[in-house]
Amino acid sequence: MTKSAQLFQQARRTIPGGVNSPVRAFAGVGGDPVFMERADGAYIFDADGKAYIDYVGSWGPMILGHNHASIREAVVDAAQRGLSFGAPTESETTLSELVAELVPSMEMVRMVNSGTEATMSAIRLARGYSKRDKFIKFEGNYHGHGDCLLVKAGSGALTLGEPNSPGVPADFAKHTLTCTYNDLDSVRQTFETYPDEVACIIVEPVSGNMNCVPPQPGFLQGLRALCDEFGALLIFDEVMTGFRVALGGAQAYYDVKPDLTTLGKIVGGGMPVGAFGGRRDVMEYLAPTGPVYQAGTLAGNPVAMAAGFACLSELRQPGNHDYLNSVTKQLADGFKALADKHGIPLATNRAGAMFGFFFTDQDTVTCFKDVQQCDTERFKRFFHLMLEQGIYLAPSAFEACFTCLAHGQKEIDATLAAADHAFATLA
Ligand code: PLP
Repeated sequence: MTKSAQLFQQARRTIPGGVNSPVRAFAGVGGDPVFMERADGAYIFDADGKAYIDYVGSWGPMILGHNHASIREAVVDAAQRGLSFGAPTESETTLSELVAELVPSMEMVRMVNSGTEATMSAIRLARGYSKRDKFIKFEGNYHGHGDCLLVKAGSGALTLGEPNSPGVPADFAKHTLTCTYNDLDSVRQTFETYPDEVACIIVEPVSGNMNCVPPQPGFLQGLRALCDEFGALLIFDEVMTGFRVALGGAQAYYDVKPDLTTLGKIVGGGMPVGAFGGRRDVMEYLAPTGPVYQAGTLAGNPVAMAAGFACLSELRQPGNHDYLNSVTKQLADGFKALADKHGIPLATNRAGAMFGFFFTDQDTVTCFKDVQQCDTERFKRFFHLMLEQGIYLAPSAFEACFTCLAHGQKEIDATLAAADHAFATLA
């Protein structure tokens, strides 16, 4: 038995399913999860010492590559001054100012501990500010595990076949209105059915939780216009896309300004951080300046703030996003060319430093229904063929792949060579 298998067996005795986040359990691909021990640059090493080229990147935060010296040093330095104070510190302002500079629609910022907290709080704020209860989300989008957001959700909920989780009372979900991604007509119809009742739209501006599905031209602009017409706030959930699709996030890439933005993952550089922010008049509606309550014992934790600041300071260096774009393009185009060579129908999508591939006859994949038509059994076999060859892809057909600055030509070539072999085996 491998050490990884032993660790999994042991973990299952005290941790449900042996994991602290369901999609890690390989439920989407079958087999036992691989227990990891350390990571460096583009590589992650399992408990038995096997190295993998990593395209999960801790589900997004590790955009500089693992174990980056500047983040590590910033964390050690901050930790030496104390782990948590529960009182304001300069590092919270420093990171908030940097976020506001890089994402100018975020005039004010509130730090939290996860993406889930960011989206939950942003929706509460939008509801409180607008004095309306309903909100619109999109089928296959995932915004964390807040009750009202676990309705037709993507990511692990979708992978496990539970897009509507038991335990969410129907009363809590009844104000959640679900529309079709990339379908503005479905959004207009919903607004027209509930005029004056919709507080906000929350959307992944590039959907990364039903694999990778970018917005069609005009979709995000259309959402902006509909929100303005019906007096609703537009929330971009950039927990995944923030600083990844472009330095200024998807809102910079597609040039659409939301009222509120939610962040997570990269903003913490690998530490548990989320953030939400946006229009000053809306953010000032939050306690203590306004009536909408939101709080956190460890929010703005100084060690986490230091990690986030170091990460964003490195990432903003000129040329980094051009490089990430070129790595992503090489991988997505490479997968497509190799699948064609072996006669395997494949579609690919990409945006900035994220990409997805779909085993499907369809030329394009633009919404949840398209994603559902893909061959998930073929994905599972492909995943395991890649894993055997030391390539760690997200263990679900419903997750995007992430590139990082540590992916060099050597890693790209090795990944494509492994894909060549995997496609040949599947053909
Ligand atoms: N929003 C999006 C778009 C996400 O991808 C995720 C997590 O993957 C979340 C929110 C929830 O973030 P967290 O897992 O940090 O709670």
